[in-house]
Amino acid sequence: MEQHEGSLRAIAVIGAGTMGNGIAQVAAMAGLQVTMIDISDEAVQRGKSTLARSLDRLVKKGTLAAADSQAAQARVRGSTAYTDIAGASLVIEAATENLELKLRILRELDRLADADAVIATNTSSISITQLAAVLQRPERLIGTHFFNPVPMMALLEIIRGLQTSDTTHARAMDFARLVGKTPITVRNRPGFVVNRILCPMINEAIFVLDEGLATPEDIDTGMRLGCNHPIGPLALADMIGLDTMLAVMKVFYDGFADPKYRPAPLLQEMVAAGRLGRKSGHGFYRYD
Ligand code: NAD
Repeated sequence: MEQHEGSLRAIAVIGAGTMGNGIAQVAAMAGLQVTMIDISDEAVQRGKSTLARSLDRLVKKGTLAAADSQAAQARVRGSTAYTDIAGASLVIEAATENLELKLRILRELDRLADADAVIATNTSSISITQLAAVLQRPERLIGTHFFNPVPMMALLEIIRGLQTSDTTHARAMDFARLVGKTPITVRNRPGFVVNRILCPMINEAIFVLDEGLATPEDIDTGMRLGCNHPIGPLALADMIGLDTMLAVMKVFYDGFADPKYRPAPLLQEMVAAGRLGRKSGHGFYRYD
């Protein structure tokens, strides 16, 4: 694969976890040089091995040539030093979802990134406008909300904060297309578009269950066969994790100050009981 010759040559990704190494993978496959930064050598190595295994699977499936997998891996450099973001025209923050942490990281990126670099954040729930406010130049921050697993999911939500400039937006759109994603542009509000619609739908399914209207199996069958959803809302909640679902509904409830987003009482009960879904082996369904 040829290295990309356009204005976007090199990117940096902050955080080598689930999302960070996925973003690094799709960027490297598109021919970009990638610097992937985490807090420890161990975390960087873990990210690189996950990325290598993911590329390996594509080679085994026959969708990627072995030589292209090698070339993509060679384009990813791991590091624990933020100074290594120098030379990147786009820096994507994909570290742990925590406001204080992200504010600290973004201040550092603002100080160390090239003067004309775009800074992006993969946050799912924190306001892009609020994060931008700590930058010297808030107009260069934008949300790039990837979906999990990054190499498989075609969508990229591009979130414009109140201060995001048109140039920053245009460059994020170019990046989305370069890495083979379909971008949609969203104004900054809690949950953006997809989670704003998806999570209240799941929350409503939990109300329906709690009211005893139908069994979990029948609720899920209803939405699969009646709406052509690939998976029912309760099975999906178990996959997402009920603690994550509750956290998202609380963000909506507080963010909009609107009772229509109140978390279903049964959701709160299940989290209090430690029934978190697949990750705890028991949610609306049982898992071995
Ligand atoms: P994760 O826990 O898998 O990875 C986070 C990584 O950030 C870890 O490797 C951690 O060591 C690293 N990190 C922590 N502090 C750091 C610092 N100061 N500098 C550099 N790296 C640091 O989390 P994730 O699931 O990859 O989530 C990352 C971001 O993506 C979050 O903002 C999350 O809300 C968002 N997101 C997650 C998903 C998902 O399904 N997992 C989907 C969309 C968006």
